[in-house]
Amino acid sequence: MIDVLHDPTDRIEYAVELSVVIPMFNEEEALPALVGRLRPVLDGTGEPYEVVAVDDGSTDRTAELLLELRATWPQLRMVRLRRNSGHQAALTAGLHHARGRYAASLDADLQDPPEKIPEMLVLARSRRLDIVYGVRANRSTDTGFKRRTAGAYYWLMRRLVGNHVPAQAGDFRLLSRNALDALKALPDQPQVYRLLVPWFGFPSGEVTYHRDERVAGQTKYPLRKMILLAVDSIISFSVAPLRLATWLGTLAFFVCLGTLVYTLAVYAAGDTTPGWASLIIAVLFIGAVQLICLGVLGEYIGRIYTVVQQRPTYYVAEDTGTATAPAMGVA
Ligand code: UDP
Ligand code: MG
Repeated sequence: MIDVLHDPTDRIEYAVELSVVIPMFNEEEALPALVGRLRPVLDGTGEPYEVVAVDDGSTDRTAELLLELRATWPQLRMVRLRRNSGHQAALTAGLHHARGRYAASLDADLQDPPEKIPEMLVLARSRRLDIVYGVRANRSTDTGFKRRTAGAYYWLMRRLVGNHVPAQAGDFRLLSRNALDALKALPDQPQVYRLLVPWFGFPSGEVTYHRDERVAGQTKYPLRKMILLAVDSIISFSVAPLRLATWLGTLAFFVCLGTLVYTLAVYAAGDTTPGWASLIIAVLFIGAVQLICLGVLGEYIGRIYTVVQQRPTYYVAEDTGTATAPAMGVA
């Protein structure tokens, strides 16, 4: 088993026309359905392609199934990570290893329809685009909660990062070699692709699609991970929360000033300001503002800490694309 750290030096540029990158974490249940739909689509394009399945440290039979599938599907390549590194890191691994002139990324659970990939490819070629986003036409299959939180997320991101962030575009997209090279040129640190990719400013287009329900298995994005993604998105693209700390501090100052004036006025009228309630509220208010500001600072310092450590975001345990002949199959 070879131990490749990130970029294998024997990469062949443009070995294939299209790479399809699929991060997978415990997707044994979804895998047969995925292959059943993806393979005919890719074979049908008549282009040389590879499928880069990134096994993100699955604890089920995902890796074994992938190896079994390779026997009958030579274009299937497995990049296995040593441990679970998270969706975005798995995506990074896949995009770094992709050898195609174009690379499409999609989820393993068939929520992103593979049938749209050829359409994305046609659009990218005909209009010379470097990025084609898959944009969700509807979210009717998502729960009301997911829809509302996603709506709030994209609204906030467009305000913080800019209007060039396409709303309702997840990680189903096509990137050209230009865009892939731009990604690879960045230092290895946690990335939020749905913000980073628009930030590059490459010519881009959109293909709308209907997001289906997960074909099998469970979501790997519980609420905890959704919150982490949102915090990560904000921290990595905006210093607005730091400014918010300044504003909160200023607000607290004026509230105190107002209270002072009120107290003095009451005192001048020959009365004393009553009760400890107002005192305790003021103390708690200032305490809360300080703790919130400290927390915000902490988030940024934590981020700086992670980045200066320069630890790779993933380690590759096995890459069938380099262990054997490169997957250069022609349909
Ligand atoms: N995934 C991954 N590593 C993780 C979590 C998820 O590679 O730690 C993959 C997962 O297998 C799927 C994609 O990321 O292909 C999106 O995850 P999921 O469908 O669970 O998220 P949702 O669609 O519910 O937001
Ligand atoms: Mg999904």
